[in-house]
Amino acid sequence: MERDIVIVGAGMVGVCCALEMQRRGARVTLIDRRAPGLETSYGNAGCFARSSIVPFNNPTLRHALPKLLGNNTPQFRYRLGYLLRETRWALSFLAHSREHVFSQTARALDALIQLSNGEHLRLLAEAGVTHRLRENGWLFLYRSEVGYAGSAFSQQIYRQFGIDIETLDAEGVKALEPSLAPLFPRGLWVKDSRSVDNPGAVVAAYAALFQARGGRIVQAQVTSIARDGQDWQVVADDARQWRARDVVVALGPWSKALFAQLGLRVPMAFERGYHRHFAAQSGAGLNRPIYDTAAGYVMSPMEMGLRLSTGVELADCDALPRPVQMDLVEASAREAFPLGEALQQTPWMGRRPTLPDSRPMIGAVPGREGLWCAFGHQHIGFSTGTGTASLLGALMHGEGPPIDPTPFAPSRFL
Ligand SMILES: Cc1cc2nc3c(=O)[nH]c(=O)nc-3n(C[C@H](O)[C@H](O)[C@H](O)COP(=O)(O)OP(=O)(O)OC[C@H]3O[C@@H](n4cnc5c(N)ncnc54)[C@H](O)[C@@H]3O)c2cc1C
Repeated sequence: MERDIVIVGAGMVGVCCALEMQRRGARVTLIDRRAPGLETSYGNAGCFARSSIVPFNNPTLRHALPKLLGNNTPQFRYRLGYLLRETRWALSFLAHSREHVFSQTARALDALIQLSNGEHLRLLAEAGVTHRLRENGWLFLYRSEVGYAGSAFSQQIYRQFGIDIETLDAEGVKALEPSLAPLFPRGLWVKDSRSVDNPGAVVAAYAALFQARGGRIVQAQVTSIARDGQDWQVVADDARQWRARDVVVALGPWSKALFAQLGLRVPMAFERGYHRHFAAQSGAGLNRPIYDTAAGYVMSPMEMGLRLSTGVELADCDALPRPVQMDLVEASAREAFPLGEALQQTPWMGRRPTLPDSRPMIGAVPGREGLWCAFGHQHIGFSTGTGTASLLGALMHGEGPPIDPTPFAPSRFL
């Protein structure tokens, strides 16, 4: 008998889970209130970066903390009321930056990222969107030697994990990105990273592949999930209902609210970020995403223009946007690159869903048979949706998992 699975949330994570469960023979219904890939999975920087094994809460965070708490850097802002309400999360996030916990996280994220990369190459080909992929890495830029020296810890970790990096001088930076102003005496080229020119279109293509293979996508606002006999019942705001033995929650930042409604407290905070598209002045261009470390922005060449994106704003998931960081980084980006006019009236806003140890929750909810988690992917959910799906698929089918599931087990927090 075919197994019925309902997946709630059609961002990168939910769509990849849908494809994986379908590949394993399940009859899958994928539910989202919007078309697939229009939220967080749309507006990111589009990087598949092996260097993402070093999360924000790494051992260098405690040195940076006094400056960050000043609440005036482009890299990090917070709303005081939110931070006070989330003190438990914040202290736990800090505690997880200690060396020994960080080492476990880096190992776990490296396994997930490597697993994901292989799966993306397969799916990009199967969905017919390999042309969106760039295989030329991404570039960290430093405005001073002191700034470069500050990357020593990350570099040591990259080397330890065999990540292919190359240090560049000003000439080397110029050779890779000739349109940049001569502001950067140092660069670090993370060579074995990839990027795409339209993350939302990649998710849409994966979703179209799922549909072409017989998968069902439903547009509905899910309001509750409840146990009903041996099944789970998923209910929408217009009273439509779906029943299944297994339900996967892949609502990204909105997973926390749905779990709260089930009486389950997920320790998730929202690292919000903004982006805005710009034209390049005539003749200028970028070949790959760049990260201007001192100025705190990433700029990625996209189909729709140059996507300038900001660092972190800690705030309520759905609080009104306050894109002050966007104004700051626009000024810095204009120093570094001949940007033209803005191609969007107002900046886009997204929320990176972050758990205290910077690892997603992938697996079974303890004591709730048939309820599965696939959320909490912080800064790396666009790239790690595929690996998440492979791991979850194995766990749901009682098979030996492709990577160690323990660091991602929901039971560590639930
Ligand atoms: C500025 C920025 C830059 C980033 N850059 C990168 C990067 O370069 N590389 C990388 O790997 N990651 C990056 N990320 C992180 C990445 O975008 C996220 O981790 C990832 O998109 C999360 O995917 P998701 O599928 O879990 O969530 P989402 O994409 O948010 O999907 C959740 C879905 O749930 C749906 N939904 C919500 N509530 C309901 C409901 N009640 N009923 C039905 N549907 C509902 C939403 O419509 C949405 O489609 C970045 C994030 C930001 C903000």
